[in-house]
Amino acid sequence: MPELISVLGAGESGVGAAILAKQKGFDVFVSDFGTIKDKFRAKLIENRIPFEENQHTTTKILASKEVIKSPGIPEKAPIIKELRKSGIPVINEIEYAVRYTNAKIIGITGSNGKTTTTMLTYHLLKSAGYSVGLAGNVGFSFAEQVATQEHTYYVLELSSFQLDDIQHFRPWIAILLNITPDHLDRYEYKMERYIASKLRITMNQTGEDWFIFNAEDENLQDALESKNISSRAIPVKSGNFDGRFLHIGESQFDTQTFCLKGEHNMFNSTCAIMAGKAVGATDEAIQLGMDTFVNVPHRLEVVDTINDVEYINDSKATNVDATYFALKAMTKPIVWIVGGTDKGNDYGPVLDLVRDKVKAIICLGKDNTKLVETFSSQIKILEETQSAEEAIQRANIYAESGDVVLLSPACASFDLFNNYEHRGDLFKEAVSQLKQE
Ligand code: ADP
Repeated sequence: MPELISVLGAGESGVGAAILAKQKGFDVFVSDFGTIKDKFRAKLIENRIPFEENQHTTTKILASKEVIKSPGIPEKAPIIKELRKSGIPVINEIEYAVRYTNAKIIGITGSNGKTTTTMLTYHLLKSAGYSVGLAGNVGFSFAEQVATQEHTYYVLELSSFQLDDIQHFRPWIAILLNITPDHLDRYEYKMERYIASKLRITMNQTGEDWFIFNAEDENLQDALESKNISSRAIPVKSGNFDGRFLHIGESQFDTQTFCLKGEHNMFNSTCAIMAGKAVGATDEAIQLGMDTFVNVPHRLEVVDTINDVEYINDSKATNVDATYFALKAMTKPIVWIVGGTDKGNDYGPVLDLVRDKVKAIICLGKDNTKLVETFSSQIKILEETQSAEEAIQRANIYAESGDVVLLSPACASFDLFNNYEHRGDLFKEAVSQLKQE
């Protein structure tokens, strides 16, 4: 009888892991405590993988040789507690999939900029002609790709939750972009635990590997003082951007033709370019890749210009740090749309920027108390709204020719919207309605 591998959570990563485990000859059982989405259910059926939903059959799961769990399932979930008691190894999809590939891995983590840098690095390698896969948190299963296609390189976006469940995973290049407070609820509100989780990306690296990191991040600096990193460290500092060119080693890249703008994106670009150079891409190929990269939606996405007012959707800015860089990147007076579910925000870091650059604040959230308390003494115009449409209507009253209306909420979206994409899409819809008026 083949040994049993159970997979907890039938999302993109779980279903991919199940497909790979089945291909490798294991008995596979998928268990999801919630309802499985139709497309994943169909995939399990198509691959003849037994599954259950809306429950966990503990006896069956406890008969497994190994359990692969979705990064979304917290340590406090009863089934995980049972598994920990039983001593059955619990790993995640990334840890499982690396066993079956010899590809070189570029792993990217950080509090902000993961998706942008991951997509950019992937694009640079692909457009330079390398065989490369894109996976991890960006929505494509790594395990499924390992099961179905061979690549020389993989670029993986890694959340701290994913790093929590790795054991032997060893990226050839690890990129750590920054560490600012986020998701602290999963780490007992202890910043040091969150930092330790991010640094796990380096824990199996050797002298043959690379560690590209933000040398100006204070949290990281402190943590690295007491940590031995075995890989070759490449500290990245912001001084390499002269306003037009990015200077990286002996090379320089003209940023005028980049689609990515803003200081933070110059930093992200530097990390991605360093990875491209480590792979062996030429400067010409990298410049071309930078020029043809189109950023993912909802990250400083230029939506339209109406009556000489620019509208920018940065709905993915769900914490203060991301919004800080958005405000910093603006070169015009700002009508700022902000708010949503507060994650314990401290608006201190943006106060100066707000005083200098923001002419009106439009709060977009169910409960705007903290925003009102923080900013009403700093700024003349502050209004509260409850929908994207209303926010745009009000912003339109204050925005004059040459201004920018920026949605950069610094908060999660779940009070009024399904997710940040929904919030950004409604913002874009409202802008397009305004155009038609
Ligand atoms: P993540 O995947 O880590 O959430 P994204 O690339 O989706 O990161 O960007 C999330 C938000 O953070 C966006 O508002 C984006 O403009 C901002 N951002 C991107 N890169 C950085 C960075 N290096 N530092 C701070 N904020 C950033």
